[in-house]
Amino acid sequence: MAQQQEDKLKKIIAHAKEYGFIFPSSEIYDGLSAVYDYGQNGVELKNNVKEYWWKSMVYLNENIVGIDSAIFMHPRVWKASGHVDAFNDPLIDNKDSKRRYRADQLIEDYMARIEEKILKEVAKGRRKFGDDFDEEKFLNTNPNVLRHKKKLEEVHSRYVRAMNDNDLKELYNIIIDYGIADPETGSKNWTEVRQFNLMFETQFGSVAEGANKVYLRPETAQGIFVNFLNVMKTGRMRVPFGIAQIGKAFRNEIVARQFVFRMREFEQMEMQFFVRPGTEMEWFDYWKQFRLLWHKNMGFGEELYRIHEHEKLAHYANAAVDIEFRFPMGFKELEGIHSRTDFDLSQHEKYSGKKLQYFDPELDKSYVPYVVETSIGLDRTVLAILSASYREEDVSDKGQTETRVVLSIPPALAPVKAAIFPLVRRDNLPDVARKIHKMLHTRFNVAYEEKDSIGKRYRRQDAIGTPYSITVDYQTLEDNTVTVRDRDTMEQQRVPIDRLPQMIEERVSMAKFLEQLDV
Ligand code: ATP
Repeated sequence: MAQQQEDKLKKIIAHAKEYGFIFPSSEIYDGLSAVYDYGQNGVELKNNVKEYWWKSMVYLNENIVGIDSAIFMHPRVWKASGHVDAFNDPLIDNKDSKRRYRADQLIEDYMARIEEKILKEVAKGRRKFGDDFDEEKFLNTNPNVLRHKKKLEEVHSRYVRAMNDNDLKELYNIIIDYGIADPETGSKNWTEVRQFNLMFETQFGSVAEGANKVYLRPETAQGIFVNFLNVMKTGRMRVPFGIAQIGKAFRNEIVARQFVFRMREFEQMEMQFFVRPGTEMEWFDYWKQFRLLWHKNMGFGEELYRIHEHEKLAHYANAAVDIEFRFPMGFKELEGIHSRTDFDLSQHEKYSGKKLQYFDPELDKSYVPYVVETSIGLDRTVLAILSASYREEDVSDKGQTETRVVLSIPPALAPVKAAIFPLVRRDNLPDVARKIHKMLHTRFNVAYEEKDSIGKRYRRQDAIGTPYSITVDYQTLEDNTVTVRDRDTMEQQRVPIDRLPQMIEERVSMAKFLEQLDV
C-alpha cells in the first residue's frame, strides 16, 4: 500500500475508535485478530445502512420478501453447497518472516504494482509533452510502458489459467519466477502453496454422546436456498421473486489485516432472485444497475465505484461482476452480483431428496428456477461510508490555524440526527434543551450535551457526522427560537422550536432517500 493510502486508513481506524464507531474486539485483552465491535455510533450507522438496504430490496420490490435464518445449519447443507470440498484459499507461508499470505493476493498485488508503474510513466509523459501529449500513442509506443504491459499480460494469463485449473504448483511458480517478495520484509523464501478451508467448525452435543460436527455459516445465502420452498408456499410467491436476508457470516480468513474490510466474523446482506431459466441475463443486468444506483445514491461521487468483471467464474456461475469501491487501500470488492444458474437448488435437491421446483402456470411445467444473487458486506459498506465521508477542512480564522474533521455521512444514514446544547449550564437553559430533546427523541436519535464550549461541542458532532446542532440560548427564553447549525455549510439560522421536527425530518428522511431509487 502506498504511504499516503496507508496513512488514510490509519486515520479512519483511529477516528472510528475515538468517536465510538468501531473498537477492536476484547481490546482489554489486546484484541482478537480480525474481529471488531461496533460502538455507540457504529451500531447506529450500521443499523441505518441495514434499514436502507432492507427497505430498498424488500419494501421497494413487491416480489421480494425477507427472512432471518439460523447461523447453524445442517452439516449436509455445506456438502451440497460445495463449501466443505471447495471453500478454500491458496495459502503460502514465508519461511523467514513466518508470515502467512494468500498466494492469489500476492500475485494480484504484484499485477497492481505493474499497473501503477504504467500510470506513473503516463504521468511522466504528460508532464514532458504537455498539451501535445497523446496518451493512446504513448501507451502503444513508449518502450518502458510496452515492457510493463508485456510482463503484465504474461503474469495475468498464467494467473488466470492457474486459478481456473486450481493449479497450486503454478501459483507457486509465478511467485518464484517473478521474484514476488513478502510485502512486509522483502524475503523470497516461500513454502509451497497449500489449500486452506475457510469454514469454522464446532460441535453439537457433548463429545461423550458422539458429537456432530457443525459449521458457522460462511455466507447467509444457503439459509435462503433451504427456505425456498417454505417461503414460496407460505408467501404465495410467483417466479420471478426474491428472498433477502441480513446476517452474520464467519470465515477463517488467512490474511485479515485491513480493518473491517476483511474480518473473521462479519455481516452480509444478500438477496437471491429466482427466475425462469433463460431470463437470468436480463435480471443479472437489472440487478447490476439497481445495486450500482443504490451505492451512488449515497452521493459520494460516481468515480468511487467501478464494475469488475470476474475472470475466474465459479464453475456454476454464468456471469459475475463485483462492484468495487475506492477504499483507502485502492479499488476493492464491496459487492458481488452473480448469476448462479440452478446450481444451488439442484444441489440441495440432490442432497436432501426434496423437490425444489416451481410450477410455472404460463409454461404449464415445473422447473428448478435460476438464481441471480446480490451479495454485499455490511462492514465493508460501513468502511466505505467512513472513508468517503471523512474530510479534514481548513477552518483557520483570524490568524488562528484550525482544522475541523467532518464526516459528511448522508443524513439518512448518520448515527445521530441532531444534537441539542444549552449555551450555558444555568438560567434554565438546560431545562429547555432537555425539553427539546424529549420532543425529538421518539422520532430521531438525538444527543444532549452540555459540557465544553459550544465550539468544541460543534466539532465533536461534526466528527460523528451529526447533520444538525441545535443551541438553546438566552433569546430562546424570549421568543422560543433556537440556533440550528448545519454540519456541512456550518451556517446557522434561527428556527422556532416547534418547526424542529419537520426541519430535521426533511433532511434525514429515509423515505426521501429511498424515493430517489424508486424510478
Ligand atoms: P473477497 O474476494 O474479498 O474475499 P469474496 O468474493 O469471497 O470476497 P463473497 O463470498 O462474494 O466475497 O461475499 C460477498 C460479500 O461479503 C463481499 O463482497 C464482501 O463485501 C463481504 N465479505 C466477504 N468476506 C468478508 C470478510 N472476510 N470480511 C468482511 N466482509 C466480507
